[in-house]
Amino acid sequence: MSSDVETSLRGPKAYALARKAIEAMEAHQVWPTALNFELWVHYVAAKDSALATEIDHLIEAGEPFTDAVGEQLAAQFLPKAKLNGEILEAGQTLSKELDSVSRAIESARETSEAYGQQLASASESLDGEDAQAIKSMVETLTVATRKVREENHALESQLQDTTAELGRLREHLEQVRRDAMTDALSGLANRKAFDEALERACDQGEQGGPVTLAVIDIDHFKSFNDTWGHQTGDQVIRYVASVIQRCSPAPRVSARYGGEEFAIIFPGESARDSLAVLEAVREEVSSRILKRRSTNEDLGAITISAGIAERKPGESPASLVERADSALYASKRGGRNRTSCADPIAAAA
Ligand code: C2E
Repeated sequence: MSSDVETSLRGPKAYALARKAIEAMEAHQVWPTALNFELWVHYVAAKDSALATEIDHLIEAGEPFTDAVGEQLAAQFLPKAKLNGEILEAGQTLSKELDSVSRAIESARETSEAYGQQLASASESLDGEDAQAIKSMVETLTVATRKVREENHALESQLQDTTAELGRLREHLEQVRRDAMTDALSGLANRKAFDEALERACDQGEQGGPVTLAVIDIDHFKSFNDTWGHQTGDQVIRYVASVIQRCSPAPRVSARYGGEEFAIIFPGESARDSLAVLEAVREEVSSRILKRRSTNEDLGAITISAGIAERKPGESPASLVERADSALYASKRGGRNRTSCADPIAAAA
């Protein structure tokens, strides 16, 4: 399940959400299988999601909600189901390839064993034979040798195909791994990748270098979404993400942390260094008047608020996030469209 829905299912609204999902399933005559339940929990929890829109279309069209429809929706909209499907498929292809290589090796082994036996019996029968017998023996050996050569050739070309197929599989699995760490809407690292990167940066920070974390939130995003609709809201998220990405190349890690919230990890950089980057992001974001793509109307300029915290020696990732969040809320309270530091003296130094 996406992390937002998963969080809701562990919060105070969990039972109400589950009941709503079951009621909706009953109303639309959907069997309460585990997969359907997961889909319908998403449906009731995020009515504005792409999955909910698709389910609404099916309901409007009076389409029955069959197992096949459920599986197709899960593969398309539930990231984990899609991932599991892809890994399963890659595993099956790999096991087919390995089967066919083992069969080819077994057949080559049998041929060369038979060849060895033919050679042994030929050498036995050569003792004391006349020229005619030797000629027929040589013919037999020539045929057997050709067969071994052909088998070896086939094996070699099969190994080549398999090596190429394994290369493709490795690439595909690498792509699946990348997708699993990437936020589909913004193209930035997702929450899972962010958590891992922050943990790594903090571990490396133990060797002495600073680590700074910035969290960024789009100002008034909810009312923007309510006014212009979610599709335009998604474009704004992509716009802010693209500016963040441009201004903070690797080894910095830019992530979409939640709905309209982003984070940047600055390994080896102080709060002061990162403040300059954050100010550049903030200025660039607000410098463009966005247009609504469908009507060309002006959407106005977007602003962001940010909070920065530099890690204290031995500080945990969770505490660092908390301090950066508090700094972000200081920016919000201070009037938005600004960056605040958790430790202003260190940033000014
Ligand atoms: P996108 O629509 O996929 O555009 C990707 C990139 O293509 C843009 O990156 C920009 O470099 C270029 N591009 C696309 N359309 C135009 C255009 O009409 N004129 C120019 N000069 N370049 C264009 P960029 O600017 O970083 O934007 C990233 C994403 O932010 C866009 O992805 C879009 O989702 C969103 N975005 C940016 N500006 C606007 C806007 O004015 N209105 C809306 N609705 N979305 C925008």
